[in-house]
Amino acid sequence: MVEGPADPLERQARLDAIAAEVRACTRCSLHRTRTQGVPGTGPVTARLMAVGEAPGENEDRLGRPFVGAAGQLLTELLEGIGLSRDDIFITNVLKSRPPQNRDPLPEEVAACAPYLDAQIALIRPLVILLLGRHALGRLVAGAPPISRCHGSPIRADGRVYLPVYHPAAALYNGGLLATLRDDFRRLRELLDELEADRPAPPAGSAGPSGLAVPPAEATEEGRPAAAQQLALF
Ligand code: SF4
Repeated sequence: MVEGPADPLERQARLDAIAAEVRACTRCSLHRTRTQGVPGTGPVTARLMAVGEAPGENEDRLGRPFVGAAGQLLTELLEGIGLSRDDIFITNVLKSRPPQNRDPLPEEVAACAPYLDAQIALIRPLVILLLGRHALGRLVAGAPPISRCHGSPIRADGRVYLPVYHPAAALYNGGLLATLRDDFRRLRELLDELEADRPAPPAGSAGPSGLAVPPAEATEEGRPAAAQQLALF
């Protein structure tokens, strides 16, 4: 089990250790073509975690996720519902850029899975915002197409997910922008609902979310636990 310590400082240290391991990672062939690994940004105490597909050209160059045009739109959508990007942990299914921004290959997703699993287990977010179909497919087994489930919360494995279209999709299809704005308003409502329902944590023992985190073994059927795959855990 990779739930990790309750102490936020120790959890942050472990999150930083994952980032270091991502930057040195050679688990799949993408390490040969990337400029650098992009582990994710944000505090371990984040109530909201956003998961996209993979780094693009700007992210690969700068080492941070969602820093291009899609990232600007994400920032605007978050600010539109009163959230600061600095309070959110933002990452991707893949931590290294695929050449020409092609879709992730199944073997790349499998190789990179322990990093995202370990990040989620340490952060314990109230809500995981799934940005696009690749994040949805990676974290919610058997989910319907994103065209049918966007904007509707999914409760699975003891976690709460909200699938939305990837912001890049709205850059290419302006008709999706209104849908994205509606879905982000639903995100605001969902966070408020969960926050109101959250039990007061016992002194000195609870993390910031109060949500139970399932064993990592339960999140990826047939996949070894992150604890077994990552040297750091
Ligand atoms: S995509 Fe993931 S598994 Fe592949 S090299 Fe990058 S960090 Fe490692």
